[in-house]
Amino acid sequence: ATPTALLVGTGRGAQLGILVKGPEALERARAVDVVLLDKTGTVTTGTMTLRGVVPAAGEDADRVLRLAASLEHASEHPVARAVAAGAGSVGGLLPVTSFVNVEGLGVTGSVDGHDVVVGRPSLLADHGLRLGADLEAALDDARAHGGTAVAVGWDGAARGVLVVADAVKPEAAEAVRRLRDLGLTPVLLTGDHETVARAVAADVGIDADSVVAGVLPAGKVDVVRRYQDTGRAVAMVGDGVNDAAALAQADLGIAMGSGSDVAIEASDLTLVRSDLRVVADAVRLSRRTLATIR
Ligand code: ADP
Ligand code: MG
Repeated sequence: ATPTALLVGTGRGAQLGILVKGPEALERARAVDVVLLDKTGTVTTGTMTLRGVVPAAGEDADRVLRLAASLEHASEHPVARAVAAGAGSVGGLLPVTSFVNVEGLGVTGSVDGHDVVVGRPSLLADHGLRLGADLEAALDDARAHGGTAVAVGWDGAARGVLVVADAVKPEAAEAVRRLRDLGLTPVLLTGDHETVARAVAADVGIDADSVVAGVLPAGKVDVVRRYQDTGRAVAMVGDGVNDAAALAQADLGIAMGSGSDVAIEASDLTLVRSDLRVVADAVRLSRRTLATIR
C-alpha cells in the first residue's frame, strides 16, 4: 500500500469515529477473519446494577450487602461499582483496614474486623469458604437469567450471593450481523460464567460454540494465540485493563473509546464513540483503502 492511500484511509477512519494508531493498523485489519469480543463493557454496557441479595440460611441480607459493599468501594471493577452503590440503603460504608484486588476474581480484605472475600465462587473456595446448597442454587438461578452472581463470605463461612447485571448494548446484535456479512466469525470472550456468556451470546446472535467463558485475565491472551496457531488472523475488541495483553497480542487490537487507558494504549484502533457497529466499518475501510491502491 502506498503511504498516501493509507493516510487517506486514516483520515476517512477519523470521520467514521475510528482513531487509527498507525497506517500499518489498516493493513492488518484487512486480513482479519475472527473477531473476539470481550463481553462486559464491549458487548454489554458495562454499567452494572445490583439486582438482588440472597443471604445464606441464618444470615441477614443487609449485613451481607453492607460488608461486601464496604470492601468493593475500593475497587473500580464494574461489578464492584454496582455492589458498592448498594451501601447507602443498608447503613453506609464500614471501615476497611486492608484490601487486596484479585484481578478477574474479586476482592479480599478486612472490614469492620472481619476477613471478607467477595467475588467468583472459586475465590471463596481458594480461601476455604464453601458454598452451601442454597447458595449454589442462587448462583444457578442468577446465571440462568443472564445475571452475574458474586459470592460473599467472611470469617470462615460463605454468607450470601449478590446478583448484578448489565444490559446488552442496543447496537450489539446489528454489529454482530455486520461482522458476519463481511465473512468474519464473531466470538464472545469473557471471564464471566459460561451460562451468563451463553445468554448474552444468544441475545446478540453469536453461536453457542463461539463462546469462550470463565477465562482468567491472564488467559485471554492465550485464547488469542490459540486462534492464531490455527492460522486465523484475529481481531480483539475490548475495554478493560484485563483485555490489554490480548489486545496487544491480536493481529488487530480494537479498544472502546470508553475503555481504560491501558486498553487504548495496547490497541491499533480506538472506537471513539464506543459503537460496536464501527468494528465492521473498520474492516471494510481497510479492505477498501487497500483495494484502491492495488
Ligand atoms: P469480563 O471478561 O467479562 O470483562 P472480568 O474478567 O473483569 O470480566 O471478571 C470476571 C468475573 O470475575 C466477573 O464476572 C466477576 O464474577 C468476577 N469479578 C472480578 N472482579 C470482581 C470484583 N471486584 N468483585 C466481584 N467479582 C469480581
Ligand atoms: Mg470488559
